[in-house]
Amino acid sequence: MTDLLPCPFCGGPAERHEIDEPGDNFGGTCIVCQRCGACGPVHFDRKENLVSSWNDRPPLPSRAARDVLDERARQAIEEGFTAEHDDQHRRGELTFAAIAYLMALVNPNGARTWWPGWSWSWAWFKPQGPRRDLVKAGALILAEIERLDRAGRGG
Ligand SMILES: [Zn+2]
Repeated sequence: MTDLLPCPFCGGPAERHEIDEPGDNFGGTCIVCQRCGACGPVHFDRKENLVSSWNDRPPLPSRAARDVLDERARQAIEEGFTAEHDDQHRRGELTFAAIAYLMALVNPNGARTWWPGWSWSWAWFKPQGPRRDLVKAGALILAEIERLDRAGRGG
């Protein structure tokens, strides 16, 4: 069927599957990924929403957005920068740290002037190249927004 979008998980082609095996779903129809086997909900009777239940989905976040979210999780899990930790930094440390990584892109010598050295050891400042530093800055900005939201100052 040409009106079916690819699988949201693996991008594989999808096909309509009529369930003719005995059981609770006998007579039903679902959309199944031909590559990974993921299937949408089983529809019965008129099945008028069969295709839309497979095609209507939120768009997947981009690789860049996933990388920022992954970095945010890594900072919390591996570095211990949990919500409780971040909540202790009310003087803009997270923002300054993000700026330091952004500065590292354009002026490596200026980056250290932005690192919140009054609170954090220099050992935590680890520039690793343009894209990685943008991801780190993005994760720090996300952490700061979340901190402000928890404090009721999200605006
Ligand atoms: Zn699939």
